[in-house]
Amino acid sequence: MPSDSNAQPCEVCGVDTTSRCSSCQLAGLDLFFCSREHQKLVWPAHKLVCGPGKALPFAVQPLTDSELAAAVLRLDEVSIVQKANAASLRRRLEKMSQRPVEYVLEHLGGDIYDTSKLADKPVIALFVRCAVSASRPIHLDLGDRGSSFFNVSDASHCCAEAASCAIDWLAAFRVLPRRPQDQAWFSLLLHKAWTLSRLLPLAWHAYTADPPDMSVVGLYTGARKRFVEWVRRGMGTRDPRFAEALRAYDSFLLQRPPSS
Ligand SMILES: [Zn+2]
Ligand SMILES: [Zn+2]
Repeated sequence: MPSDSNAQPCEVCGVDTTSRCSSCQLAGLDLFFCSREHQKLVWPAHKLVCGPGKALPFAVQPLTDSELAAAVLRLDEVSIVQKANAASLRRRLEKMSQRPVEYVLEHLGGDIYDTSKLADKPVIALFVRCAVSASRPIHLDLGDRGSSFFNVSDASHCCAEAASCAIDWLAAFRVLPRRPQDQAWFSLLLHKAWTLSRLLPLAWHAYTADPPDMSVVGLYTGARKRFVEWVRRGMGTRDPRFAEALRAYDSFLLQRPPSS
C-alpha cells in the first residue's frame, strides 16, 4: 500500500505518521497516533468514542439530568479569575449559541443530534459536560510570577468555542451541509476537541509537578495550535469553500477590536 502520502500528524505530538487507531479505521475514521504510548496517553477519553458505533458519527452521549442541574448551579461561575477575558458559563453559552441561556438550557437535553432548536447542539453539550465535570478551580502558585486560579476545563471551553464559531461561520457562508453531524469532518472536529480535553489536565499536572515536566505541557500546547490551524485550513474537507469561508472568518477576527 502506498502509505507515505497518507501520513498525517500524530494527534498527540504532531509527528507525521501512517499509524492510526485501528478500531476507528474500521469505523471509517482516521485518527493518527505515532506510537502506542501516545495512543495510551489519551485513551481514557478516546475509549468512550473509539471504534464502530462510537467514532463516526462521534458518540456524544446526551447530557444527563444531573449534568444539566450542575450547569444551572454553575452558570455564574467564572472559570478563570484575575484574567481580563474571564467569562461566566452563562456568557459563554450565550455567545456560542447566540440565544438567551434559558433557551439553551431548555433545549440542551434529549437527542444530542436533534439540532432543530439548537444549532451546534453536540458541540455545546460537550462544552457543558467539560464545564461541569471540572473540579473547583485549582489554586496555582506561579512562584515569582504570583499566583492565580486555573480551571482545567478552560481549554475545552476554548476548543468548543472555536469549533462552534467555525461552524457558525460556515453556516453564514451557506457552505454548511444540511446535517453536519452526518459528515466525517464534523466527527473529526469533535474527536480533536475531545483529545485536547484529555491532554489539558495531563499538561496541568505535569506543569505543577515537582520538578515540572515541560515536555507534556508542550504536547498540549502543540496539539492545540495544530487544532486551530487545522480548522483554519478547512478541517481536512478539501472543500475550497470551507477553507475560503474559514480564512474570511480569520481576517474578520483580526480586524475586530478586542471584545470588552
Ligand atoms: Zn505522537
Ligand atoms: Zn479509536
